Amino acid sequence: MDLIPYNTIITAIPNHVKLVAVSKMRSVAQIQTLYNVGHKCFGENRPQEMKAKYVALPKDIEWHFIGHLQTNKIKYIAPFVSLIHSIDSFSLLQEVNCHAEKNHRIIPCLLQFFVAQEATKHGLSWEECIALLESPVFSTLKNVKIIGVMGMATFTNDETLIRKEFKTLHEYFTQLKTQYFATNPDFKELSMGMSDDYAIAIEEGSSMVRVGSAIFVE
Ligand SMILES: *Cc1c(COP(=O)(O)O)cnc(C)c1O
Repeated sequence: MDLIPYNTIITAIPNHVKLVAVSKMRSVAQIQTLYNVGHKCFGENRPQEMKAKYVALPKDIEWHFIGHLQTNKIKYIAPFVSLIHSIDSFSLLQEVNCHAEKNHRIIPCLLQFFVAQEATKHGLSWEECIALLESPVFSTLKNVKIIGVMGMATFTNDETLIRKEFKTLHEYFTQLKTQYFATNPDFKELSMGMSDDYAIAIEEGSSMVRVGSAIFVE
């Protein structure tokens, strides 16, 4: 595997921004190559694939789940997942809490917002998110920890639109921080930016970028 694209990106990203190398559909050998140069944070979007890679690879890797998560598949990742970026419903958060409890863990999670123009992207609306946070049930969930928000911009060349969507996500983050997490120092992550738009996302305040195809160039 060619390490030049990875080296270029890791050098371009400021120190305060975490690079999640999105390794979905990439081989264990490709991940091992990045691990060997010191990269330890990988993103996957299929539970069984992530579990198989977890089993095959060194145990100090941080595994981030970034895709739509079906409740019947939480069991594959609950024992080891480092961060779930994609909480897109209250019922999913409740189920993650159940599995975390069974595994005697507290699983860090991000609330995924729908900010794009496309109908195919998952995520909460602002109203759904507020309903979730204000629900009496939410305060009983002891085995999940909300540490920030995540979102995806529309897949487009229109930089103005992408920037506007990232600004919206940043505003959601700031409002939630002020209204619900002001005394919670763990609430600090703004996961936005992918291969085509991570530079814009960083300009708009991203703390975590999820980059796949620009790293694993064939
Ligand atoms: C695949 C994926 C990425 C990475 O996409 P690239 O364009 O390959 O960088 C980031 N976030 C999510 C949620 C994804 O599914």
